[in-house]
Amino acid sequence: AKAAGKDQAAVFDVAMRQEQADRIRLLERLRGAVDAAEFAVHYQPIVNLDDARPVAVEALVRWMPPGRSPIGPDLFIPAAEDSGLIVALGEWVLRRACADAAVWHRQWGTTVTVNVSPRQLADPHFTVKALAALRASGLPATALTLEITEGVLVRSGAHAAQALLHLSALRAEGVRVAIDDFGTGYSSLSYLRDLPIDVLKIDRSFMPADDADIRQAVLVRAIVDLAAGLGLTTVAEGVETRYHADLLRDLGCHRAQGYHFARPIPAGDLTDLLSEDAKV
Ligand code: C2E
Ligand code: CA
Ligand code: CA
Ligand code: CA
Repeated sequence: AKAAGKDQAAVFDVAMRQEQADRIRLLERLRGAVDAAEFAVHYQPIVNLDDARPVAVEALVRWMPPGRSPIGPDLFIPAAEDSGLIVALGEWVLRRACADAAVWHRQWGTTVTVNVSPRQLADPHFTVKALAALRASGLPATALTLEITEGVLVRSGAHAAQALLHLSALRAEGVRVAIDDFGTGYSSLSYLRDLPIDVLKIDRSFMPADDADIRQAVLVRAIVDLAAGLGLTTVAEGVETRYHADLLRDLGCHRAQGYHFARPIPAGDLTDLLSEDAKV
């Protein structure tokens, strides 16, 4: 039994080393990819629930290694965060998204929302970089929303204070701030009252399975009412069915995003989608 335990420890150790080696290799490839600009930004429409028309898009980054299939952000954003590479990558995404959206905004009034990681908001130069991205693209500040997760502003300490300064400065310029994945963190409700935010994105884990799933619907209703009372715009994520869309509209949720309406698509396809929508 003792020998078996020892063997198991050895196997575990090998697995750990393997995992560490994989992580290091991923990081090296990721660093090379940032230098070689092997990324693309795809866009998912966000629709107005009253008329199902696309009024905004979320920018979602993809890694496109040459000759291989695209890699989704869940697989590399955490490593990019830990290593700090997200600062350069995130700035590139913001510039790309502003440039693409400037065209859509001029033509159809479409706005864009971009994910910002905690590491980017800890960078003292973030406000300057974001304003430079806007200026270079010609996109008005009022057409840009930045998405952050609840933890960023709630944690006390220097990083939260720095993040708060950036968001307040950018909001003063007209940029809007959204709380992403709302309801999945551990923060208290008081921050909704106190912090500089404009939009609540209801996490997809709150979408009811069907019309018998009353408990989920009750939670969604409570979130929508709370947000409305505070003057925030609500966006539901993970809207996959007709039932979701109807329920959310009946509850007074403003906007929705999900496979029921559209998946994230390349910029060229999004241009086609918006011009088709403008015809009807
Ligand atoms: P997120 O910000 O919550 O983005 C929404 C994710 O849900 C996207 O996954 C989107 O493709 C997916 N999704 C959209 N509609 C549906 C639906 O109806 N059902 C389901 N099951 N999923 C849906 P994606 O593109 O794989 O992105 C994953 C996460 O990676 C994002 O979650 C975000 O946290 C992060 N991410 C993506 N792009 C960036 C970026 O440029 N910077 C940073 N910091 N993070 C990013
Ligand atoms: Ca997001
Ligand atoms: Ca989200
Ligand atoms: Ca998420």
